[in-house]
Amino acid sequence: MSDSTASRLPIHLVLGSRNVKKCREMAELIAPPWERRPWMELIRVESIAAHPDAPEVVEDADTFAGNARKKASETALALGLWVLADDSGLAVDALDGAPGVFSARYAGEPCDDDANCRKLLEALADVPDDRRGAAFRCALAISDPEGRIRLESEGSVRGRILRELRGPGGFGYDPMFLIPEYHRSFGELSPLVKHQLSHRSRAFAHLRVGLEKLTREVAAGN
Ligand code: IMP
Repeated sequence: MSDSTASRLPIHLVLGSRNVKKCREMAELIAPPWERRPWMELIRVESIAAHPDAPEVVEDADTFAGNARKKASETALALGLWVLADDSGLAVDALDGAPGVFSARYAGEPCDDDANCRKLLEALADVPDDRRGAAFRCALAISDPEGRIRLESEGSVRGRILRELRGPGGFGYDPMFLIPEYHRSFGELSPLVKHQLSHRSRAFAHLRVGLEKLTREVAAGN
């Protein structure tokens, strides 16, 4: 697509996350190869890395949805662009839903995936196999350039927390999250399989329904 075509597109959408691996998943899931539709050509996705002036948003809401809305809205207002934000994390049954919205900072700041996984392994060391259930949760929010939330969705996937890290793939807590039906962790499953099962892919499947309508409305000038 030429630059002149791209600049006429109705939605120039910034992915509002500085987590490079999460952003890659978001870019793949917004217009997945297995579900190409003409309206998807009307969206130009851009990384927040192209906007060094984007603000650092304080994630202090007590829900994933609240943080996703805050990230989307504050970033969109500051940039004057459409922004899609993802707030996600792991809720462990035996820890009453922790680390939850603190997943990225579970072992302190700066965020460190390895340290987070180690801390979780230790916290669950004495928890028996039949009580190691957990859910990955993902909340998405799209804000228009005026900071108004125009679309929201959520998705989750259940699994079990392993006693060791397995597999080189994914990011964050993926190597310790077992999908029992596959006998594999998200770190062992291919990106394509993770995209069929994950909390993020489920949230995006809901989002795409609304995004088609929104894209057409914006294209029509409504
Ligand atoms: P956020 O960027 O504030 O939403 O933080 C999300 C944190 O949750 C990340 O740092 C990861 O530790 C964890 N997380 C979210 N989604 C995933 C996933 O798909 N796989 C593994 N970890 C995830």
